[in-house]
Parts: sequence; C-alpha cells; structure tokens
Amino acid sequence: MLLGILKESSLGETRVALLPENLKSLLAQGIAVAVESGAGISAGASDAAYAEAGATITADRSSILTSADLIPVVNTPGAADQALLKSGAIVIGFLRPLDAPATLATAIALHVTLFSMELVPRISRAQSMDALSSMATVAGYKAVIDAAGSLPRLFPMLMTAAGTIPPARVFVIGAGVAGLQAIATARRLGAVVEAYDVRAAAGEQVRSLGAKFLDVDLGGIATEGGGGYAAELTEEALDRGRDLISQTAAHSDVIITTAQVPGRPAPRLIRRAAIEAMRPGSVLVDLAAPAGGNCELTRPGVTQSLGGVILMAPMNLPAEVPVHASQLYARNILNFLSLIVKKGEFSVDLGDEVLAGACVAHKGSPVNPRVAKLLETSQSIG
Ligand code: NAD
Repeated sequence: MLLGILKESSLGETRVALLPENLKSLLAQGIAVAVESGAGISAGASDAAYAEAGATITADRSSILTSADLIPVVNTPGAADQALLKSGAIVIGFLRPLDAPATLATAIALHVTLFSMELVPRISRAQSMDALSSMATVAGYKAVIDAAGSLPRLFPMLMTAAGTIPPARVFVIGAGVAGLQAIATARRLGAVVEAYDVRAAAGEQVRSLGAKFLDVDLGGIATEGGGGYAAELTEEALDRGRDLISQTAAHSDVIITTAQVPGRPAPRLIRRAAIEAMRPGSVLVDLAAPAGGNCELTRPGVTQSLGGVILMAPMNLPAEVPVHASQLYARNILNFLSLIVKKGEFSVDLGDEVLAGACVAHKGSPVNPRVAKLLETSQSIG
C-alpha cells in the first residue's frame, strides 16, 4: 500500500497534510510513503526530514497521483490532478463538498473514495479528528494578532509617567471555536472584550474567558441547529443582532467576526452604517470571508480602508501559521487514518459512523445525501 503526500497547489497554501513525525506508525505497518519534493518546506519539514523518517522523496508529482492508494491533502486537488488518480484510491482533506461539490466530479467519476474533514461528525469519539476546530483555533488567534498589528493603538492598559493609556476594546461576533480563541487571545493582550452569539450556550464560555456576553432577545426562537452549530435565523431575528452590533461597533477599536451557519452563506450581520460609526484607525477582521463574509462591505480576500477603518477579509489565515496549523491538521488526519488503516491495508467500513459521516463519495456515487443533491443540481444547471 502506498500513501502519497503532495505539495499543496492552491494559491497561498503553505500547510502540508502529514509531517515526518506522523509517519512512524504508518511505516511500521509496512505502508510505503512517497512525498513530493518540497511538500513540507513551508511548514518547517524538509525533504531530508521526510527521508530520514523513512519516506521516498520524488519530484514527480504525477507518479504519486497515479500510484498512491491513499492521499491525505489539505485542499481538493485540481481536476488535472484528479484525472490521474487510480480507481479505488482514497483522498482525505478539506474537500469543500457543500460549497464546491462540482470540483470533485472528476474524482467521483473515477471511483475515488473521498472523505471530507469538514463532514467529520462532531461526536466525542471524533474530537481528535476535528480539523475544523483545529484550524478555527489558529485563525481566531491570528486574526487578533493581525488586528493588533494594524491598530494604531496599544492593546493593554498602560499606566506610565506620561499618562494612562486605556485598553483597546475588542468586539467578537460569533463565539464558536474561532471566536473563543479570539477572545482568549485579545484578553491575554490586555483588551477589554465583548462578544455576541445567537447560541445562549456560548454565554457561559465567553464569561469564563473574562469577556462580557451581549444578550439579544430573539423572541425565544430556536437558535441552535444540529451538532452544536447555529441555526439559520429569520431576517427579523438577524435584524435584532444587527442593531446590537451597530451600537457596539461605535465604541469598539477592533471587531473580529466569525459567525457562520454550516453549508449556508455567512449571515450578513454588519451593516455599512456600523462601519461608518467606527473610529478611523479601527480594524475589522471578517473571518467569515470564505463564506461570503459577515459584513456587507466585505470583499473576500481583499483588505480595504473605508473612511480610515481597516476591513480585512482573509481567506486562509491558518496558512499564515503553517508550522502549527500543519501540526494540528496532521494529527487530525492521522487520527482519522486510524479508522482506515488496518494491519497495513486500507479498508473503508461505511458501517463506522465517523467514516460514513465524512464520506463524500465511494465507488462512483455520492454517499452524503446533501452532496448528492448539490451535485444533481449542479449537473442539471451545467
Ligand atoms: P461555526 O464556525 O459554524 O460558527 C461560528 C459561530 O457563529 C458559532 O458559535 C455560531 O453560533 C455563531 N453564529 C452563527 N450565526 C450567528 C448570528 N447570526 N449571529 C451571531 N453568531 C452567529 O461554528 P464552530 O465555531 O465550528 O462551532 C460552534 C459550536 O459547535 C462550538 O462552540 C461548540 O459548541 C460546538 N462544537 C462541538 C464539537 C464537538 O462536539 N466535537 C467540536 C467543535 C465545536
């Protein structure tokens, strides 16, 4: 059995799916590992380190694609790469099956088995495979660091002989994994932090980090969907959140916004008027940019200055911290692989709830019903 590790080809991607230190248990089971030259370099892993761990290094990317039985990736390989995969091969990674299902069509047609790290069920047994949480943790931290780097003010309160400097005021919207890490990071830097989330359960976590939770009366509607995620809200309920956000934005130096509803465009929570009410020099980091953004002025991937307010909309913050982002992601991948790698063989048991939940396609057909429906729609439109 051959496991292949590719150099990620998406623009700006610096992470790698497995690091040299992750190979030991695989090699011990007699699995061969082929690594594309340079695959780990941005993540601090040289070709020599992979070779020392027992992998074979090759500059021939196609040879890995055509011969590997299993390829863990960070992002979906492009269509030309997919076309080289062998039938029955397994690909595991952030495959974006709900927002870009059509990009998987070539691999599905070739009977490649696809597992999406986004679809790993959020149950306790799969916590160590929760790559969304790992990456959200990195993104939440980096968003605050980037905001602090751009803010023309200091974060902590300073009492000096030249006077007292008040602490920065940070407002975090969406107190899920990324939001909670943003709160913790901003608090460590000495900011005063407020946070808002539609899930009342987030309130306790926010307060335990020393931040103030802002409650909005949403009229008793259900705000939680499945798996601990938020439900999609009505326009009326969203409006109540928007009003609170506008009021809070006016006195915030930094806004970190992370609100998302899985499989849906990000809720538009921040109106133009809220940005206009912020002081010049304030910074807003829209972590929901990959899903369209939480701010109506967000342009995904573009940093704008709007009347002196900096609006950042990063598309891939974990790739800006590639060493630790890769370390966490690779551990998640390795834990997921433990469900597939059995005594040196790769076997897919869709009776396993975690594998079934994460499986996008197997033997030429979509397994996940939502993906099947989306693919049907995209084919009928195409
Ligand atoms: P996410 O990235 O989908 O959303 C981020 C946050 O945005 C969530 O807290 C959500 O409630 C919030 N949000 C959505 N719409 C909003 C709106 N209109 N206004 C304000 N906030 C809004 O979610 P996530 O961070 O990946 O996870 C959310 C929660 O899931 C966690 O806090 C946790 O409770 C749960 N979770 C469970 C597991 C597990 O069981 N293994 C793992 C990770 C997270």
